Amino acid sequence: QVTDALAKEDPSSPSYDWFQTDSLVTIVIYTKQKDISLESVIVDHQDDSFRAETIIKDYSYLIHIGLSHEVQEDFSVRVVENVGKIEIVLKKKENTSWNCLGHPLENHNSFIPRKDAGLYYRKCQLISKEDVTHDTKLFCLMLPPTTHILVPIGQHVYLKLTITGTEIVKPYTPVSHSLLPEFKEPVLPNNNYIYFLIKVYPAGLFTPELDHLQTGNFVSVSNPEGNFKISILQELEDLFLLAAGTGFTPMVKILNYALTSIPSLRKVKLMFFNKTEDDIIWRSQLEKLAFKDERFDVEFVLSAPTSEWTGKQGHISPALLSEFLKRNSDKSKVLVCICGPPPFTEQGVKLLHDLNFSKDEIHSFTA
Ligand code: FAD
Ligand code: NAD
Repeated sequence: QVTDALAKEDPSSPSYDWFQTDSLVTIVIYTKQKDISLESVIVDHQDDSFRAETIIKDYSYLIHIGLSHEVQEDFSVRVVENVGKIEIVLKKKENTSWNCLGHPLENHNSFIPRKDAGLYYRKCQLISKEDVTHDTKLFCLMLPPTTHILVPIGQHVYLKLTITGTEIVKPYTPVSHSLLPEFKEPVLPNNNYIYFLIKVYPAGLFTPELDHLQTGNFVSVSNPEGNFKISILQELEDLFLLAAGTGFTPMVKILNYALTSIPSLRKVKLMFFNKTEDDIIWRSQLEKLAFKDERFDVEFVLSAPTSEWTGKQGHISPALLSEFLKRNSDKSKVLVCICGPPPFTEQGVKLLHDLNFSKDEIHSFTA
């Protein structure tokens, strides 16, 4: 009971300090938490305005300062995990001694529930746009050099465009550049890139506008959001992924991470629901990966196949799932991730409960 009470307690308020050398200014955030990483802090600085948002459990701690002197564009972020300390090292433009760090800007030094913090956006440049299927493209965006952000696996961001005078915002899930290591990322000057697989709906509000952007144009990208935590994958033996259409996007990084970083993993099985063969995202990469890694299997299910299709057909159903979701043993640690159109996900979760998967064994991606 004591542990319960402690677990529910709000994290204690972080604090910050700063120090300088001739050429550097270091801002130190003391989170008073141990489970922090480079993903925990999002830094943006533009001209003299410096912003660092630290995510601590369900809370957001903001440093927001108008710097007293100019700094260079590039900076570094370090995390000392065992003491919960984050260090942001800025390079002075001129080697003079600063009397103060600067003046507080809006909400500086606030520690508030994350849901009340609002989303911060920075402008990112479209670097490339590559066809993946007849309607889905791989978009590559470049973060500004003045931003540090790492989107945690399984989380999404919001993209924002101004369309006929109105700001329109939609969520998208970053993916890896590919599923296979031999599809090398193009060598580009820094590694500040985010990739998205996005389906363009001709009658949609947002995606046609996004598709009209030329390389070099800008789109705003928010801080990450979402409740998936990779800790749920620790010691996992069987991972089942149920994806429909672009509901495949959160599975990409989960799949990559599971196959490279979970030693206990025995099997990953993806059941991928699409309308037709032409709609299957990264089909040949998935088939190659299944061929190369015997722990990975993929099964395609089509809801509107042509007469030539000899594979599985139909919508998500008890028959499809009970055959597919075979546990290694009653005791094996299992997770089922599900994502797709809301009726698909709702039906899937219901069917999983009927098949005796517990709440802890299911992660559904929803809005
Ligand atoms: P919308 O204007 O929303 O329209 C979508 C389709 O519905 C169009 O075909 C349109 O004609 C039709 N439609 C619209 N209104 C109606 C109506 N009233 N009746 C019938 N039909 C209608 N998508 C991706 O491609 N990639 C991702 O990585 C991705 N990640 C997501 C993550 C999250 C957490 C969520 C919730 C969604 C994600 N999506 C993703 C979906 C994405 O956010 C948008 O919903 C999608 O891109 C459609 O946007 P749109 O404005 O172009 O289309
Ligand atoms: P789609 O229309 O191409 O359909 C793909 C498959 O989904 C179909 O073949 C069918 O098997 C299944 N499906 C569709 N409608 C269904 C229904 N009413 N009942 C049962 N099954 C159904 O899909 P799309 O256009 O690629 O849309 C993908 C959806 O995934 C969007 O709604 C998008 O918002 C959602 N999505 C959510 C997230 C998230 O994190 N929450 C991430 C990515 C995509």
